[in-house]
Amino acid sequence: MAPARPRVLVVDDDVTFGRSLGRHLERLGYASVFVETADEVRELVGRERFDIVLSDLHLRELDGVTLVRCLVDVTPTTRMILMTGDPSLESALEAIDVGVSGYLTKPLEPARLRSVLSKALQDQKAAKAARENLQLIARERLAAHQRTSRASDLEEAFASLFLVFQPIFGPDGTRYAHEALLRSTHSVLKRPDLFIDAAIEHGRLQELGRRIRAEAAVVLHAHPGERLFVNIHPNDLDDDELYDTRSPLASVADRCTLEITERAALRPGEALDTQLKQLRRMGFRLAIDDLGAGYGSLGSLAMVGPEVVKIDMSLVRDVHKDPRRQRLIRAITTLSREEGTQVVCEGIETEEERVAVTHLGANLLQGYLLGRPGAFPRQSKVA
Ligand code: C2E
Ligand code: MG
Ligand code: MG
Repeated sequence: MAPARPRVLVVDDDVTFGRSLGRHLERLGYASVFVETADEVRELVGRERFDIVLSDLHLRELDGVTLVRCLVDVTPTTRMILMTGDPSLESALEAIDVGVSGYLTKPLEPARLRSVLSKALQDQKAAKAARENLQLIARERLAAHQRTSRASDLEEAFASLFLVFQPIFGPDGTRYAHEALLRSTHSVLKRPDLFIDAAIEHGRLQELGRRIRAEAAVVLHAHPGERLFVNIHPNDLDDDELYDTRSPLASVADRCTLEITERAALRPGEALDTQLKQLRRMGFRLAIDDLGAGYGSLGSLAMVGPEVVKIDMSLVRDVHKDPRRQRLIRAITTLSREEGTQVVCEGIETEEERVAVTHLGANLLQGYLLGRPGAFPRQSKVA
């Protein structure tokens, strides 16, 4: 494709002169548009891009210098050339003062016209490149600022990290355990999903997993006889520290159930089998979280053979009104009983839901109806 011809807007109230100049420019390889008035110029430059504006110094309702001043803001990289049949030192100085690229006297001398046009074009290219460069620098600065502010947000979240605990009850109302849930005081990263995403983005997920497990271990050490469910990210399975028998959580592993969400894809294979075997050898129990959330397949059940499954709250919601949800939960509790797996129903918000899931065979219940996440209770009784 041939490169686009440089575009020149010719402005002159002498129509014959303007048209003839336009034709001459076309012969020199420029694309030219001719207008007679400053109003037409303003309208055109708002709609179209011109590399050069070649204007008479004395237009009917406006002088060329004022026109140049107006155009600088609208089209900052367009170069201006002024022409006059009545040259004076004063007008030449004024033209230089507003930063025009060239000053021509009429009648135009062809060689001088060519050289002024070519210089203006070079100026225009340089101005365009400089502007693009400035825009690039501004964009990079903004991106760098956003990166560092996100990094400092994450730092703040790490510095204020804490866990809250939501109780899990047996069907008779006795408390069985608590689930540990990640929090921070950061205005945005207080949400665990956002905190975790930010940690992944900044390569700090492993550090986050270790901090959560260490905090959970403190609680288990401080409360003998209590049980905790601790969420782990599937990538935590690749962290050696999880298998370190000297780690804070290892010595209380027999009171800890590790929840792995069904939302994330587990990679089946020997490595996974070895990891799960090692965790069980250390005393951990394994739970599949969010079963039925509609993300993964039931494959995670087969891969992990969990001690606990946690039915996602999307299946629990309004279960008493929905025979399909009832059949699904019944199928899961029946299968789990055969496998010796405990079933927790999550997100119970109403008495009707609690009654329904209990009838459908859930072993354990969790939800706002029974207890919201909060500080670990000082005095606690475990079933
Ligand atoms: P999850 O593990 O399924 O945790 C249950 C979520 O449901 C919690 O949200 C809890 O506050 C909320 N919830 C409990 N009962 C109800 C209820 O009755 N109604 C409703 N609408 N919600 C209820 P939270 O704490 O915002 O956690 C969201 C998710 O973030 C967790 O889902 C888990 O996947 C992840 N997460 C939380 N803490 C950790 C952590 O320490 N490590 C990892 N890897 N993930 C975590
Ligand atoms: Mg969970
Ligand atoms: Mg869940």
